[in-house]
Amino acid sequence: MRIETEIKLDYKDVLFRPKRSVLQSREEVDLTRKFTFKNSQQVWEGVPIMASNMDTVGTVEMAKALAQHKIITCLHKFYPVDLLQPLFQTAATDFAAISCGIKEDDINYLAKVHAAIPDFRFICLDVANGYTQRFASVVARIRDKYPDKIIIAGNVVTGEMVEELILRGADIVKVGIGSGSVCTTRIQTGVGYPQLSAVIECSDAAHGVGGQIIADGGCVVPGDVAKAFGGGADFVMLGGMLAGHEQSDGELQTINGEQYKVFYGMSSETAMNKYYGEVAGYRSSEGKTVAVKYRGDVNNTIKSILGGIRSTCTYIGARTLKDVSKCTTFIRVSQQSNEVFGKNS
Ligand code: 5GP
Repeated sequence: MRIETEIKLDYKDVLFRPKRSVLQSREEVDLTRKFTFKNSQQVWEGVPIMASNMDTVGTVEMAKALAQHKIITCLHKFYPVDLLQPLFQTAATDFAAISCGIKEDDINYLAKVHAAIPDFRFICLDVANGYTQRFASVVARIRDKYPDKIIIAGNVVTGEMVEELILRGADIVKVGIGSGSVCTTRIQTGVGYPQLSAVIECSDAAHGVGGQIIADGGCVVPGDVAKAFGGGADFVMLGGMLAGHEQSDGELQTINGEQYKVFYGMSSETAMNKYYGEVAGYRSSEGKTVAVKYRGDVNNTIKSILGGIRSTCTYIGARTLKDVSKCTTFIRVSQQSNEVFGKNS
């Protein structure tokens, strides 16, 4: 047994140190980025935020709304191909990813989507545990089969596995285990890694070999999204922050006169019952089911998130999103905000 004693950090453990800046206004800040991905050699330009491939968040309606902001939606893997087709006939190709797992059925699904929509650009290969040899070999196999698709692979939380997946063919590695808002992996297994430290360490590893990372999970306020970029994330993926909207899926409920939408983890009992008819006997649920206050049109939430990040940039003197991590000094704190009049979120 070994213990690593260095303290690892979550978003709640730090704040940005403000710095002198020559920026006049938030309007001057550019939140778009342009990447040339290492393995596919594809060029992509947009705002590097992603809606998670959870079935309540990664919906076609979400993709239509977020594409207007140049934000990517990772569509959930249970979409029948014919429901995806109309989305890709519009301009959403740059801002929608096809998700799948690593079972043969998933790989066949990908082939079917490819036959019907050959122009899609992103594949999101998603498993709860990206540390298995099988996962790395499927990444290599998918890279072989689709040399010019932008491949996202995850999830992992340590540098050596980020390097391995990029060397096997991934362009972007998804980072985060146990940090999600409806995730119970840490409770069920005791496994995890504080998300900000995971982002800092994994982005360093990815950039060293010419790849990119996504900070996936754990953002609860716009400031957390900015902190993920500050820590070196190239993309930030959001689940809970985009749940409960008009464009999200999930049953609408009225509780004490207020409207809520159901939101659940993809490994929750709710999701497993929905898609597999049961929680298989050898596994346990690693996700929660919650009711999120209904928040209306997602465009308002997106404007608030982008406005928050722009403001971060002016506080730290970053003219572009690309400059954010260079301009970042984090200070460790024991309190985030004054909550005397209630929780700020
Ligand atoms: P959030 O933004 O809600 O904090 O985190 C979203 C992320 O949580 C997703 O993109 C995914 O990586 C992760 N996630 C989604 N469902 C589950 C689940 O049932 N169990 C676990 N362990 N993680 C989940």
